[in-house]
Amino acid sequence: MSYPLNFHRAPRIVDQRLALIGDAAHGIHPIAGQGLNLGLRDVGALVEVLADGMRLGLEPGDAQLLARYERWRSVDSFSVGFATDAINRLFAIPGRLPSAVRRFGMGAVQRSGWLKRFFMDEARGMSGDLPALLRA
Ligand SMILES: Cc1cc2nc3c(=O)[nH]c(=O)nc-3n(C[C@H](O)[C@H](O)[C@H](O)COP(=O)(O)OP(=O)(O)OC[C@H]3O[C@@H](n4cnc5c(N)ncnc54)[C@H](O)[C@@H]3O)c2cc1C
Repeated sequence: MSYPLNFHRAPRIVDQRLALIGDAAHGIHPIAGQGLNLGLRDVGALVEVLADGMRLGLEPGDAQLLARYERWRSVDSFSVGFATDAINRLFAIPGRLPSAVRRFGMGAVQRSGWLKRFFMDEARGMSGDLPALLRA
């Protein structure tokens, strides 16, 4: 079986006693090397949610715990998938004007310390609501 290297995501990543992580939950274009980072954040979030719940006496398949995992991961996985898809589409547009716009954008990022730091933090997976496992 083969599937295209583009942005796709499962409409739901949890069900009865089931949680999807990594590429089973979402696939993104490898343009920015973010797929593994996303998967590790899924693992960290799921572990944290399940450990919190079990400390409260809930069992790991508890529907509220799984729903919390789904809520936690949905914004991050959608925004990274959407951003990498947009970058991929932007760089696929042929012609001089799009090429000039891309050069201008890359130059602006290179010159701006703030923008550069923002993109570096995003690329290293150091932004947003990180699970404790990845903050250590
Ligand atoms: C060309 C390319 C370049 C990439 N570059 C980067 C990068 O630079 N940085 C980055 O962070 N990410 C990158 N990625 C993305 C990264 O490889 C994936 O996001 C990551 O491997 C997903 O991990 P996973 O464990 O979810 O899935 P996978 O790595 O796909 O692991 C799933 C495993 O399950 C096995 N499996 C499947 N079906 C079954 C079954 N029925 N029974 C038993 N086993 C099964 C598969 O054989 C596989 O070993 C890239 C991806 C591609 C395609």
